[in-house]
Amino acid sequence: MTSSADLLVIGAGPAGAAAAIRAARQGAKVVVFDKAPYGRDKVCGDGLTPRAVGALAELDIALDGAHHIDGLRMIANDTVRELPWPDNTRFPNHGAVWPRRRLDAALIDAAVEAGADVRWETEALPVLDGHRVTGVDAGGDRWAAPMTVVASGAPGKVAKMLGTDRVEGEPFGLAIRAYCESPRHADAHLEACLTLSDEAGTPVPGYGWLFPAGDGTVNIGAGALSTMKGFKKLNLNRLLDDYHEMVRESWGLGPYLERPRAWRLPMTAQRRHGAGWVAIGDAAGLINPMNGEGIDYGLESGMLAADLFLDDPATAPDRYHVAVGERFDSFLSTGRRFSFLIGHPWILKNGLRLAVGTQAIANITLQVMGNLVDGETPGAAGRIFRLTDRTLATADPVLRKTRAAA
Ligand SMILES: Cc1cc2nc3c(=O)[nH]c(=O)nc-3n(C[C@H](O)[C@H](O)[C@H](O)COP(=O)(O)OP(=O)(O)OC[C@H]3O[C@@H](n4cnc5c(N)ncnc54)[C@H](O)[C@@H]3O)c2cc1C
Repeated sequence: MTSSADLLVIGAGPAGAAAAIRAARQGAKVVVFDKAPYGRDKVCGDGLTPRAVGALAELDIALDGAHHIDGLRMIANDTVRELPWPDNTRFPNHGAVWPRRRLDAALIDAAVEAGADVRWETEALPVLDGHRVTGVDAGGDRWAAPMTVVASGAPGKVAKMLGTDRVEGEPFGLAIRAYCESPRHADAHLEACLTLSDEAGTPVPGYGWLFPAGDGTVNIGAGALSTMKGFKKLNLNRLLDDYHEMVRESWGLGPYLERPRAWRLPMTAQRRHGAGWVAIGDAAGLINPMNGEGIDYGLESGMLAADLFLDDPATAPDRYHVAVGERFDSFLSTGRRFSFLIGHPWILKNGLRLAVGTQAIANITLQVMGNLVDGETPGAAGRIFRLTDRTLATADPVLRKTRAAA
């Protein structure tokens, strides 16, 4: 027997939950499937930029459970810059740290409250009729709907079926994280160390982070881009151990509270829509190559997919493809070019010196990397973003040819 719904969602992370909240609140019959149990954790830094806080506000999610963050402490060798989140953008002037177990539960609880039917421990796979997705097979049942939202995170089985894997040769990231107790758990700043090196002393394009969760613990992690020389041999556990050792004293860090866990950060997707379906969040490769942020893009693309579906299910996938591209593609492709650039150790070292050289430039670096500016933003940050965009676009073929990765 086939059951039916208006909208089917594969994956109950931030992206899937955002789509479900938005559609269910407008009265759509929404069914969400997640193969994990309720309360599942997600390997993440738990950091929310002002843009993500803005997206949560758009969804009416109260930040009661989150730790308020005023800005970022950027560290490059001996230079330490404490930077407030800007207050001249269209986003709130604060961020947050919200451990994913709790953030994701708050989001999916809101979806249930809005009327979505969430089925845990139920793997869902798309049902294809030619190229059209007509619904899903889940837990022994078949479901049909005019549109299926693929919110299944970094590519796996669903991506193989729909051809949404990442684009070969384009950058992606890997990152690892753990939790530790720290007397500085309630710090009001995220901390990012931009000058990590691997065991051979090669500078790592990426960063080590300490994100205070306000609950007695901090999230400690490290991430790297695939454009790095020697990326395939990079030992993430060792990178994290070295970083832990580096910051142990200044943060009064205890040992890891659980085994450090690593996961992938997809930054491209071969496709993100087709007849009867759209992909959102990590499943669509929507991660910022400049800082590894993906929660906001998951929330924004989820809301966008639901709004277009509510408007007209038949044309929603095509319109989604255009709208998501207009919102994110130019920034993400600039970010990918940037990651080829910083894959070169010499450029990374000298670029960093420039990026944190003065407080004013570091403030602009923060705004550009946090995707808090765009081509329309006035002032110095907007000008620098437009200039960087144009320069990197011109240099792109050279950057790719001379890529440092081995
Ligand atoms: C170490 C690390 C640190 C990071 N730090 C940050 C950070 O600080 N801030 C930030 O913004 N981003 C960060 N990111 C990125 C962020 O974690 C992701 O962008 C975000 O989780 C994407 O949300 P999503 O809903 O698209 O996918 P996910 O959160 O991965 O959710 C996908 C869900 O789909 C389910 N699923 C998969 N396949 C199926 C199936 N076939 N059937 C049913 N269910 C299925 C999974 O169980 C999962 O619950 C980090 C990533 C990593 C790896």
